Amino acid sequence: MECIFCKISKGEIKSRKIYENKNFFSIFDINPVSEGHSLVISKEHFENFLDLRNNLGDDLIECVKETISIIKKEKPFEGFNLVNNNSEVAGQIVKHFHLHIIPRRKGEKLKSHLF
Ligand code: AMP
Ligand code: ZN
Repeated sequence: MECIFCKISKGEIKSRKIYENKNFFSIFDINPVSEGHSLVISKEHFENFLDLRNNLGDDLIECVKETISIIKKEKPFEGFNLVNNNSEVAGQIVKHFHLHIIPRRKGEKLKSHLF
């Protein structure tokens, strides 16, 4: 099993977790499109959004909100985009569910490689 996010989830690859709850955790993206670009990742392997169990919704929302609140204190921003790519045709490279949190600041241009 070569899934990079499974390895991070299991601690086989070290990474600084911003926040975690029972079913999700967040980390900074290694190739950020803006300062503070983070990923909310399922602890269990699901290929994409459609594979998530419906009862994970609360934990997903909680992890997104908590992560935003933490990174906002470290690297303030006024707005953000939430991006979730599903399948190669939509720009999904890592086949393990993740949601991008992309901080947005006035006058700052993105160098998006996401889609
Ligand atoms: P995508 O599958 O296109 O939605 O995006 C995958 C994202 O994962 C990209 O923005 C990568 O920069 C990011 N990424 C890939 N490997 C790692 C890693 N080891 N740690 C943090 N981010 C990663
Ligand atoms: Zn995985």
